[in-house]
Amino acid sequence: MSSLYIHIPFCKSRCIYCDFFSTTKLERRQAYVDAVCREMQLRHNYLGDHTTVNTIYIGGGTPSQLSARQIGQLIDSAHTTFDINPTHEATIELNPSDVTPSLATELKTIGLNRASLGIQTFDDNLLRLIGRRHDSLTAINAVKTLQQAGFDNISIDLIYGLPNQSLEQWGRDISAALNLGIQHLSAYSLMYEEGTRLFAMLEAGQVAEADEELSLSMYQMLVDRLKEAGFEHYEISNFALPQHRSRHNSSYWDGTPYIGLGAGAHSYDRQSRCWNVADIDTYIDNIACGQLPLECEHLDTDKRYNEMVMTRLRRVDGLNVNEVEREFGTPYLQHLETAAQQYIDSGLLTYDATTRVFTLSNRGIFTSNDIISSLFV
Ligand code: SF4
Repeated sequence: MSSLYIHIPFCKSRCIYCDFFSTTKLERRQAYVDAVCREMQLRHNYLGDHTTVNTIYIGGGTPSQLSARQIGQLIDSAHTTFDINPTHEATIELNPSDVTPSLATELKTIGLNRASLGIQTFDDNLLRLIGRRHDSLTAINAVKTLQQAGFDNISIDLIYGLPNQSLEQWGRDISAALNLGIQHLSAYSLMYEEGTRLFAMLEAGQVAEADEELSLSMYQMLVDRLKEAGFEHYEISNFALPQHRSRHNSSYWDGTPYIGLGAGAHSYDRQSRCWNVADIDTYIDNIACGQLPLECEHLDTDKRYNEMVMTRLRRVDGLNVNEVEREFGTPYLQHLETAAQQYIDSGLLTYDATTRVFTLSNRGIFTSNDIISSLFV
C-alpha cells in the first residue's frame, strides 16, 4: 500500500504568514502540469511494481489555480502510470474564491472524492489582515457549492492565535465551522515564520503573538467543542467524524511509503527520503531533459527510529512501545523509556501500561517539538 502526493506550487497572491514553497508565475501552469505527468513516467517504479496506491492528494500552493482540464490531466496520468485502488481517496486543496458550481461538478466527474478548503477564519477583518483572497461569505458558499456537487467528504483548515484574536472570536469560528456540515477539520496555531511578511510585522511591533495561556485555552476549546459535536480527535491538529479521517495524512503518520511529484515534493520508501528541487523553472527544465531534480538521503536505524517517534506521537493513538521494540530492539526501547520519564513526571506525556502506549497530553502538545526531539537518539 502506498500514497501519491502531487504538489501544485501556484498561488494567485501570497498570504502574509506563509512560508510554503509557492510561486505567482501562473503563466507556467501548463508546462508544469506536463512536467509532473512526465515525472510520473520517469519514476513509475519508485513505489515498486506490486504496490497499490490507496490515496491521491493534490496539495499546494493552490491546486484550484489549475483548470479542471489540467487537474484531469494529472489524475488521468496517475491512473495510467500507477496501480490505483478502485476505492482510493482522492483529495484536492481548494481556495474558497476559486470554487464555482462548474469547477465543483467537474472535479467530482474527474474522480476527486474529498475537498480540503483553506478557510483559516470566518472573521473578515482577520482574513484581510493575513492576506487571504476570500471573505467569510465566499467560504461558506464554497462549502455549499461543493456539497451541492456531491462532495460528502469535506475538510476545512482554520488558524487560531491570529493577531488580536480573542477566545470569543475563536469560539465563533468553531461555531461557524460546525454549522457547515463538514466531515473533517484541521486547526493550526499561527506560526511566525522567519522571512514572512508577518514575521517582519512582529519584529516591527505591528502585531503581537498570542500568549501561551490564550493559545492553550483556544486549543482546549477546540478539542472540547469538536468532541462534543461527535468528531474524533485523531491527530494533534486534526478532527474527523467517524469514518472520515484523512486516509492520506494518516498514511504519513503510520509510516506508509509515498511518492511526491512536482517541485519541492518529498517522497519516502521506508529506506530513504527524497525531495525534488523547490524551483519550478529548474524542475520543468530538468524533467524536459529526462533528468530528475531529486536529492535523497538514506535513513539509517537512528533516523528511522526518530521518524517513528515523531510521526506516531502526533497521533492521538500515540506511540506503541511494542512497535519500537519490534522494529528497533531493546536498546532503543530503553532509550525511549528513560528519555520519556521526565515528561511523564511533569504531565506532558502519558503512558498507558496496559496498551504500552505513550501519548502527549494537551499541555504537552504545545511543546511537542521539544518533547519529541528530546526522545530522539
Ligand atoms: S494560498 Fe496557501 S500556499 Fe498560497 S500563499 Fe496562501 S497559505 Fe501559502
